[in-house]
Amino acid sequence: MSGHGKTSRCMNVVSSKITSEEAVPVEGAAVPLAVSDAAVTPMMKQYLEIKAANPDCLLFYRMGDFYELFFQDAEIASRALNIVLTRRGKHNGADIPMCGVPVVRSDEYLHKLIAAGFRVAVCEQIEDPAEAKKRGAKSVVQRDVTRLITAGTLTEDSLLDARRNNYLVAIVRAKASSADAAAQFALAALDISTSEFRVMECDRAGLAAEIARIEPGEIIVSDALYGDPEVAQYFRELAVTPLTRDVFDGATAERRLSAYFAVATTEAFGAFSRLELTAAAACITYVERTQLGARPPLSPPTREAVGATLMIDAATRANLELMRTLSGERRGALIAAIDRTVTPAGARLLSARLAAPLTDPDAIAKRLDAVALFVGDGAARADVRAQLGAAPDLARALARLVLQRGGPRDLAAIRDGLAAAGELACRLQTIEDIPSELAAAAQALVDVPVEIAAALSAALSDDLPHLKRDGGFVRAGYDTSLDETRALRDESRRVVAALQARYADESGVRALKVRHNNVLGYFVEVTAQHGEKLLAPPLNATFIHRQTLAGQVRFTTTELAALEAKIASAADRALGMELGIFDRLAAQVTGAAEPIKRAAQALGILDVEAALAVLAVERDYVRPEVDRSLEFAIEGGRHPVVEQALQKDGGPFVANDCVLSPPAGENAGRIYVVTGPNMAGKSTFLRQNALIAVLAQMGSFVPARHARIGVIDRLFSRVGAADDLARGRSTFMVEMVETAAILNQAGERALVILDEIGRGTATFDGLSIAWAAIEHLHETNRCRALFATHFHELTALSAKLARLHNATVRVKEWHGDVVFLHEVVAGAADRSYGIQVAKLAGLPHAVIERAKLVLAQLESQDRASPARTLIDDLPLFAARRAAPAATGEPDALAEALAALNPDEMSPRDALEALYALKLKAAKKS
Ligand code: ADP
Ligand code: MG
Repeated sequence: MSGHGKTSRCMNVVSSKITSEEAVPVEGAAVPLAVSDAAVTPMMKQYLEIKAANPDCLLFYRMGDFYELFFQDAEIASRALNIVLTRRGKHNGADIPMCGVPVVRSDEYLHKLIAAGFRVAVCEQIEDPAEAKKRGAKSVVQRDVTRLITAGTLTEDSLLDARRNNYLVAIVRAKASSADAAAQFALAALDISTSEFRVMECDRAGLAAEIARIEPGEIIVSDALYGDPEVAQYFRELAVTPLTRDVFDGATAERRLSAYFAVATTEAFGAFSRLELTAAAACITYVERTQLGARPPLSPPTREAVGATLMIDAATRANLELMRTLSGERRGALIAAIDRTVTPAGARLLSARLAAPLTDPDAIAKRLDAVALFVGDGAARADVRAQLGAAPDLARALARLVLQRGGPRDLAAIRDGLAAAGELACRLQTIEDIPSELAAAAQALVDVPVEIAAALSAALSDDLPHLKRDGGFVRAGYDTSLDETRALRDESRRVVAALQARYADESGVRALKVRHNNVLGYFVEVTAQHGEKLLAPPLNATFIHRQTLAGQVRFTTTELAALEAKIASAADRALGMELGIFDRLAAQVTGAAEPIKRAAQALGILDVEAALAVLAVERDYVRPEVDRSLEFAIEGGRHPVVEQALQKDGGPFVANDCVLSPPAGENAGRIYVVTGPNMAGKSTFLRQNALIAVLAQMGSFVPARHARIGVIDRLFSRVGAADDLARGRSTFMVEMVETAAILNQAGERALVILDEIGRGTATFDGLSIAWAAIEHLHETNRCRALFATHFHELTALSAKLARLHNATVRVKEWHGDVVFLHEVVAGAADRSYGIQVAKLAGLPHAVIERAKLVLAQLESQDRASPARTLIDDLPLFAARRAAPAATGEPDALAEALAALNPDEMSPRDALEALYALKLKAAKKS
């Protein structure tokens, strides 16, 4: 570690969103870096040098059992962590602000700081304080930064969510000038805690969707990209670290990557574009800088082909509540409804699969085969899950061990994980005709190094300390010389206890204690009142005075001094031996990192497939057919989340069909226009079909009686502004921007869900926009779509658009109340039942009665006709001509006509009136 010069440690961060509010001191700023100042203590000099090399980080400076922060770091941290700000010494005549966190609890504080967007440089003592003392009383313990902790490069369980990956993402943009660049952007995503590493190319829309899918813990970009508002809009609330150009240098990318993986050329991993290599190398360089040379066990990057996964943009993900609800909770989201995994690796893989459903029917079928096996074979399902339950988080334990920050419990995790892998391998071998995905997993499990599991079992004791430096993790009987040394140490401790008893006896001071601290070693302690006795003859021959404190007096004896040396050396030797054993075992594990990593992945796959089978059996899901057609035929579909929620309340969920398959003789799918009163179940119906598609393509069974889906390549879902209040941005503009994205992007393989689009503005505006949007979807996008609306006028469109289908959610009127049947049938809703719903909601009786009167009045004025007129007068895409009729503005001609009374007019009056009308009409057009 000492080989790393300070300059290479500097991240060269220019500016950073995460620190802009509470700027971490930079060189020349708030920290007085006048290291030459004669008044500066040697320790402060060391601190300032290290801080100067890490200006963008909060510096955790190790002092004994604490990490201390100084100057502005201390002010920032004390605020962020809500801990006391004190002072320590003076610098240039001013007090030095200081705060500290105990090392044993530092994870908890780190967690808060990282979550708040800070980066932390951890500076450790890299020599024994005793060594420093040898150089002279005033010499400072050598310290160095051993690690930079950033949001995207975490490995500790306490800093990570076990159920989620934590990705570091590098984004690079093609030079505008380079004509050969096929894609606009490349993105590399790396999870050092699980070793996953992927790269892909994408266009601008794809970039936004990928960021939404991956949900990076941290994004790194070049300064130039960081400052580009067009790209920066996708980062929004994410932690973004801008870095200097060299990190994103395409010319050296290939070299940096092959050096990391110790291969001659990255071609071994597959064909990458230069842009992809650049993104991947940026990740690697950042990892090397933050880990200061320690190398996490990364898998080589794999390339994700464009279009291999179902593209779902950020708004759609949010709307469909895939990973969390609109209010940000996991509970109530699809993931929570379908997650039956029993291991962290399984939970992470399930999330990853849900976030990125596939588009290749063959790949989907392979996953479905695996689920089907576990659905059909209940015994295998139960056995596999029982074994998995005993398997800890192999991948993350491995990463920590390789990075040399693992502890005894990580070794135990490897031991238990490998044991479970072995058992599972045996169990899988008993399955006949095993599907290919499970066969591959089984093979990875067979390949695990069983000898490592055996070595770990033999070495580790049953009760393990959290930290290796606490010792005691090597099983008694494992190593004879360790056992002997421990016996010596423990024996000496018994001798100390015996001594205490003897001294108490001899001195007659019953409260006499033998104690230990790091300064005095072992010493005898009595209260001040008894001190005199020991200081006087004859006892002063035995007890040698060392220290007088306020309440106590401390002594040493020659016997204690001798014992001290013996015990200290025995304990030290025992611990040293244990640490040696730890390192040997850890090295063995590190040496087998590859097969262990593959086994970890295999366990995740088994968990996911078995868990999806549990879900399918428990909730009565069916295997969907996914093919390359444009079908979308769901029979008896249910909403996976609402169904479970209703069941808890005891209510039944009404299953519904949805057929968007192309009608006979057509080569594009259908559009459903779904009408029905509020609360009828329109939104539920729309979403359930989108969710069924997502589930099918991620390789899960689906909540339906039967489902056939021609593979979908892009999924869009939008909710009208008025329904979107949960996100606190019920602006019509947002709704329109999102609708524009769909109309511009959806192709014939897309599935589009539009829920009450156009309700964020005046009725006629909204209706016109919805109208035109449906026409566009039908004629230009030609995609499968579901369109829920409260504009009944839109149902008239079915007369003109061949693939448009009207559906309505049935309600029954009963004694003036409305009863929701939640049943989707062909046809249009006849009315809104708004007043009935209002009544259900408890509006005052008088208001309800009055509203009924107003409605009757309005209805008698015949509001029904405009749609009919519209449909006849509006040729497709010529809406402008007929617009005035729809706006209902008072018509001067009509008014003039209405004012005439032919019965009372003379022929001459009639003729003049006719001329006047003609003139009016001429003026108007
Ligand atoms: P809309 O969009 O038409 O206003 P929602 O889809 O929001 O109606 O549904 C309102 C409520 O009706 C839901 O919260 C749910 O409890 C219930 N619901 C919807 N669809 C069904 C169904 N198919 N079976 C049973 N209850 C349903
Ligand atoms: Mg709704």
